[in-house]
Amino acid sequence: MNAQIELRGVTKEFTLRATREQPQGGTLRAIENLSLDVPRGEFLTLVGPSGSGKTTLLDLLGGLSRPTTGSVQVDGQEVTGPGLDRGIVFQQYALFPWRTTLANVTFGLEQQGIPRRDRNDRARQQLALVGLEGFEDRYPHELSGGMKQRVAIARSLAYQPGILLMDEPFAALDAQTREQLQEELLRIWRATGTTVVFITHGIEEAVYLGQRVAVLSSRPGRLKALVEIDLGDRQAAADLRSDAAFTHYRHEVWTLLHEEVRRAQDAGHLKIQPDGTERAA
Ligand code: ADP
Ligand code: MG
Repeated sequence: MNAQIELRGVTKEFTLRATREQPQGGTLRAIENLSLDVPRGEFLTLVGPSGSGKTTLLDLLGGLSRPTTGSVQVDGQEVTGPGLDRGIVFQQYALFPWRTTLANVTFGLEQQGIPRRDRNDRARQQLALVGLEGFEDRYPHELSGGMKQRVAIARSLAYQPGILLMDEPFAALDAQTREQLQEELLRIWRATGTTVVFITHGIEEAVYLGQRVAVLSSRPGRLKALVEIDLGDRQAAADLRSDAAFTHYRHEVWTLLHEEVRRAQDAGHLKIQPDGTERAA
């Protein structure tokens, strides 16, 4: 039985425009020779320094771009474009501001030609699943950041995709809302059996959510490590984040990641901002 997602020797290069500093242009290698299997139903989290190719990788899985070399397969088929088998949730909510919550969720279902009654039913169901019952008629500007991201999740789930691809979806939320959504995402994942590939900047978030944490090297992104997270029965643990095992995994991932952040800094790829966050240089 093959894994649901199979990346084989994936390299992705971008062609750079000519600039005054580099009149011939050039190429930038964002991902190098990356191979990774994600079995059906797994919750995989992916961390890496800024600029290590996380978003590039998600775009490849989503079919928004094609690898320079290597192959990206989903369910044994080469990915050649976007598809309803893969829902994507971005960091920015990407909702249609002129559509209500319900109409944002039904959007894709309209494109599929599903009759109005059915798509409204399905959208209401999805909105209930993400805790937005009663907010169907609100517009995005009337919702908090956390609620907007719930709408985005409901919208991706409405197609019942086998795979959910998430690119730092909770990064813009406050800590409390983030933890709440993490909890709910796990609940939805358990209820639906969807395969999840979840990119995050947060080590704690990666360890909390992931069955495995993939750590990317600094640019060009290679698979540096895969850390299996075994926290026993997460649902039973009252305060998982202060558990000894949790602390151990967090430290392990932190160590792997910080080696790479340091390498990226030394290579001049990363600049540390005054607030302590990193930015790709
Ligand atoms: P991450 O999400 O890990 O921060 P990205 O995947 O966004 O990193 O980017 C990886 C590298 O590829 C960065 O150096 C970025 O500047 C570069 N890059 C991404 N997209 C493009 C593009 N369309 N053209 C040129 N360079 C790109
Ligand atoms: Mg990114």
